[in-house]
Amino acid sequence: CGVFGVYAPGQPVAHLTYLGLFALQHRGQESAGMAVSDGESITVIKEMGLVANAFDERMLVALSGHLAIGHVRYSTTGSSVWRNSQPSYRDVGGIGFALGHNGNLVNTRQLADEAGMLPGAVASDTDVIAELLSIELGREGAHASLESALMEVVPRLEGAFSLTLQDADHLIGVRDPNGFRPLCLGRLDNGWVLASESPALDIIGAVFIRELDPGEMVVIDADGPRSSFPFAAERTDPTLCIFEFVYFSRPDSRLYGRSVHQARIHMGEQLAEQMPVDADMVMGVPESGLPAAEGYSRRSGIPYGQGLVKNRYIGRTFIAPSQELRAQAVRMKLNPLRENIEGKRVVVIDDSIVRGTTTRAMIKMLREAGATEVHMRVSSPPYRWPCFYGMDTGTRGELLAANLSVEEIRDFLGADTLAYLSLDRLVSAIDQAGTGQAGFCDACLTGSYPVEIPVSLGKGVLE
Ligand code: 5GP
Ligand code: SF4
Ligand code: MG
Repeated sequence: CGVFGVYAPGQPVAHLTYLGLFALQHRGQESAGMAVSDGESITVIKEMGLVANAFDERMLVALSGHLAIGHVRYSTTGSSVWRNSQPSYRDVGGIGFALGHNGNLVNTRQLADEAGMLPGAVASDTDVIAELLSIELGREGAHASLESALMEVVPRLEGAFSLTLQDADHLIGVRDPNGFRPLCLGRLDNGWVLASESPALDIIGAVFIRELDPGEMVVIDADGPRSSFPFAAERTDPTLCIFEFVYFSRPDSRLYGRSVHQARIHMGEQLAEQMPVDADMVMGVPESGLPAAEGYSRRSGIPYGQGLVKNRYIGRTFIAPSQELRAQAVRMKLNPLRENIEGKRVVVIDDSIVRGTTTRAMIKMLREAGATEVHMRVSSPPYRWPCFYGMDTGTRGELLAANLSVEEIRDFLGADTLAYLSLDRLVSAIDQAGTGQAGFCDACLTGSYPVEIPVSLGKGVLE
């Protein structure tokens, strides 16, 4: 998912949110929504589908206010239906609030029980956060503000959560103590912005100030931003999802002060060093494999060429929420450039192989287009373990590398050779793109989960 928030009196906040969400569209394509406050009441609009379809000019003009949050959804838990779209809105005794969530909680079941929610009544983990906040706000005399209710509620959440929230006149951002998902702060001439990724700041002319720290909560109002740290200090353990660098984030994003694009180029260079091969052309699988292909070509000296054309109007295949839809989408998505491939030994670079659906179909297409050898190179290690922190990559049974050796995978994919970038080299490629500490979650590669997965949640998924 992608989250956004803007506090900017006198500016068209609904329009700014629309633009911000547009820049974050790659983080979720199932639904889009925003909540706008004019200081008295909050109006929420959400629709299934893309940002461009969810809002129109007339709606945006009518949504006047000084404060807004927005959300694009990619479902991990909870199904892809309107009821689960965000922001979630609640009104408790005159305090209305809206909430957008990127990530996935691992203790949803337990929290829902504590909140007294019946199993059938729990739509999603975000719904549970909204319920917990409502309960806190509703306790007689307990809380005068959304901020103080949050101070009670967020320490009980476990897992991945980058949140943006608002009441009538505060914008709030929270990042979990592991910082699994990104969240950054930007500044407008007359206001402040929160966004999952920095390109959402660029697009509205905001200046990037900084990333929120893992475990940080920022409250923005007429006095500007104020930080606090609601979590126990020992929970702070920066483990940003390494796949934000490998695949998920936009190349023009900055994470841990590093350029994502530069990091991807370095991954390709490292891959060329680790697994060289004799070939005629290096090509990337568009879009996410292209920077690493550039790096591989540069380091190996093998010419770079374009071997596949991507249909611009199709989204990320994974984001189609069923295997059937995904398999169909591959054929709609990529088409080979025969004149560039025919008679050539090609090195094909992609960022990752998860289920293998795309890769297998793509290699077959390249051979049909006349490639004489196909050498597959992947700029991340084998994806072996399911993610519980906000990526929907399926159960263990669906992961190609879960139970197969690299040789068995090569055979299944139909490649002449196959190699994956080692974890050490992946981390060093990211380090090469900047300075300072950068801790990562790599659970899907190593099986070592930085936040413990309850047995009930792991059951069936880890098998
Ligand atoms: P596969 O061959 O596993 O079907 O697909 C691999 C492709 O899926 C890669 O090009 C990768 O960019 C893309 N992809 C789409 N969604 C995801 C995701 O959520 N995680 C990862 N790691 N790769 C994804
Ligand atoms: Fe990212 Fe993998 Fe960790 Fe999930 S398990 S947060 S995809 S690194
Ligand atoms: Mg890709």
